Formats: sequence, C-alpha cells, structure tokens
Amino acid sequence: MSNYPKFLYTSESVGKGHPDKLCDQIADRILDAYLSKDSLAKVAVECIVTQNMACVFGEVNSTAKVNTKACVVDVIREAGYDDASTGMDYRSVLVIENISAQSDDIRSAVEKTELNGKMLDSYDKIGAGDQGIMFGYATNETPERMPLTLMLANRIVEEIENLRKTYEFIKSDCKSQVTVEYENRDNELVPLRIDNVVLSVQHAADLEKWTNVMNECVYGTSDQPSSLKPLELFRAFLRKKIREVLPEELLKSTKYHILPSGKFIIGGPKGDSGLTGRKTIVDTYGGFGLHGGGSFSGKDWTKVDRSGAYAARWIAKSLVDSNICKRALVQISYAIGIVSPVSCYVDTYGTGVIDNDKIIKIINENFDLRPKAICAALGLDKPVYGRLSVYGHFGRKGYKWEESKNLKF
Ligand code: AMP
Repeated sequence: MSNYPKFLYTSESVGKGHPDKLCDQIADRILDAYLSKDSLAKVAVECIVTQNMACVFGEVNSTAKVNTKACVVDVIREAGYDDASTGMDYRSVLVIENISAQSDDIRSAVEKTELNGKMLDSYDKIGAGDQGIMFGYATNETPERMPLTLMLANRIVEEIENLRKTYEFIKSDCKSQVTVEYENRDNELVPLRIDNVVLSVQHAADLEKWTNVMNECVYGTSDQPSSLKPLELFRAFLRKKIREVLPEELLKSTKYHILPSGKFIIGGPKGDSGLTGRKTIVDTYGGFGLHGGGSFSGKDWTKVDRSGAYAARWIAKSLVDSNICKRALVQISYAIGIVSPVSCYVDTYGTGVIDNDKIIKIINENFDLRPKAICAALGLDKPVYGRLSVYGHFGRKGYKWEESKNLKF
C-alpha cells in the first residue's frame, strides 16, 4: 500500500437524445450548414426543445441560405425521436425560427480595417467577438490527455447510442456518470479503479416483450428465461454491455447504479425541456480544471468562448505532451474588439519542470492567440462542429487542437 493520498472524483455525460444535447447538435448542425456554403458566416444560434417543438433563435450574418427546419428535423430523426406520443417526432415537430442579423455594434467592434489611421493586416482585422475567460486543461492520466472519468462517461453513452440502433427497447435519452478512485502522486493523478457507475437509459414501456433478447445477451440463451423481472433483466443487460467498454483492469469492487430512478419511460423533450449550452462540463473536462462559463455550440470562430477554449486546450495538451508538466490548466481572456488576449495564466499543479513565467514565455512564442490566427491554425472556418456537439469537444481524434506542438524548453 502506498502512502499517496487517494480520492474519489466523478464526471458525467449525456447521450445524443438528451434534450440539452439535442439543442447543441441542432445549433452546430445549423452552424455547419452555413459554413459549408460560406466560410465567413457569423453565426450565434441557440435552441430550445420541448414537447414536439423546437425553437431556433439567434443572430447570423451570411451570404448563404440555410434550411433551418431541415437541420432540426435531421438531428431529431438521427437521435431516434419518431413517435409524437412519446413527446417528439421528427415528422411532425413544430419548428419555430427567429434568426436576425448580428448587431451592428458588435460587428463594427469585431471587424476593423484600420486602427489609428493605419491599415490592419488580415489577422489584426478581426478582434474577439466578446469579452470572456476561457480555460484549457490536459492531464497525463490517459493517452488522450483527458480526465479518465469523463472519457469513460462519454464511452458509456456512446455505447448506449450504438445499442439503441440494434435493440428497439432502448430509447433515445440517457445519462451516465463515472466515479474513479485516484491516487495523488505529487499532483500527478493516477487512476486506481472505477469505484461506481451510474447509468439511466430511457426504455420501452413493454420491456417484458424483450425478455428473450435480453436473456440471450445476459445468459447466452433464450431457452430458459431468467426469473428476473423485466426491469431487473434490463439492468443486468445494461451492466453486461457497459462492462464490455470499460477497462477490465479498473473494474475492482465497482458498484453499478443502473436506473436508480426505478423506471425511465418518459424521456427526451417530454421528460425535460432542453437548451443549448447547458452541458458545458460534459463538453469540456468533466469538472476537472476550471470552466469560464461560455458554451460552444452554435458559435462561429469569432466567438472566443469557442475558439479561445479550443486554443487553450491545444496549449495545455502541448505542454503535457512536451513533458513540461504532467497536468496543465491554461486560462486566456479577451476584450471585445481587441485582437490579442488581455491575459494568459498557467497552472501546472506543481508538476512543471520549469517555472510558470518561463511557460508563459513559451506560450507567447509558440501560439498566436489572435482569433483569426487560431481559426487558421485549427481550421475553425470549416463545417467540423456537428460531430463535436455530442461526446465532448476534446480528446477526440481528427481535430487540430488535439495535435500537440512539440515545445522546446
Ligand atoms: P438535466 O440533465 O439536468 O436536464 O436532468 C434531467 C434529465 O434526467 C433528463 O433530461 C433525462 O436525461 C434524465 N431523466 C428523465 N427522467 C428520468 C428517469 N425516470 N430516470 C432517470 N433519469 C431520468
């Protein structure tokens, strides 16, 4: 037994059919639709979903014409909502749209051609779209440099979404939560075991119709139906399925709280209305690091809530991958209309091999944090956002903010 302190830490995630996540996906689907036709589009859209209804509102400046309703319908259909009696049907959903032009005051503050009589270069023409604070975090506890708790919570809801496509009794709404026991080795976090998993999955009201299928999965036979009641059998089924996607070596005395509410028949927008930007912790680091409060979905790159947070993650991950520290938290902040950040802060939780002021110097020398420079480096004017709007914006393959710079120190 080591003498390092141990602690439990928890992250949660939500599936594709969760009402708040539906809204994030709709907002990013609309953003992608604009960007695919007009890479200069300025987009800030929000969404609400409630019983068989979606409202899309916000501000857009673009030469492109986008079919907002088609974006809403596609997201709802892909999430499996096809029955108005359960509160949402892509075929009959009422879509209310109220999108206006971006405020002229904001536009003129953000886009300038000259300053004090001097013509500006293209990177200096676009200032930050708002003031705000953004955080990026990275940790060496996983190959993705992400908190294990969040990676596992995301993996579970992604697996439930895969299962939904095969098993009719699994419905669209779900939430997961994973608690890991960590050892704190001089501030480096080492996962020891998964302490517990919480999982709620919306299900068909007539689970008894599916006992053979569930028996087959749980016991390998449908000949001798188990004596478990349908809900118990569903719990056993879910437990078996999620164990398959969790790292076996960490399943030590793990407790499972599956459907702790007892039943979950009413779900999605009927169970709970949804709103964009309500799952910021699921989108980022699962409660590790810090969060500036700004959400991502529906916002183009001039909104530093998004581009600044992606850049801060890129910096934090680059610091860890360059072995400058084992964990990194990076904060940057902006003022509306001003191109460069007004501050930059770093915390290595005492794991840094060089002083913080040297790290800040390395950041300043290696990362151009003007919004347009971030956009160019990370490819943010492309329609890349739809896939990110569920299962997290970080720790995913195929995105430039995950490709660390090799920093010399
Ligand atoms: P929130 O994510 O904070 O909006 O919390 C509400 C969420 O709880 C819903 O959107 C569902 O994902 C989930 N939920 C709704 N009904 C149930 C239920 N019967 N059992 C477990 N979870 C549920």
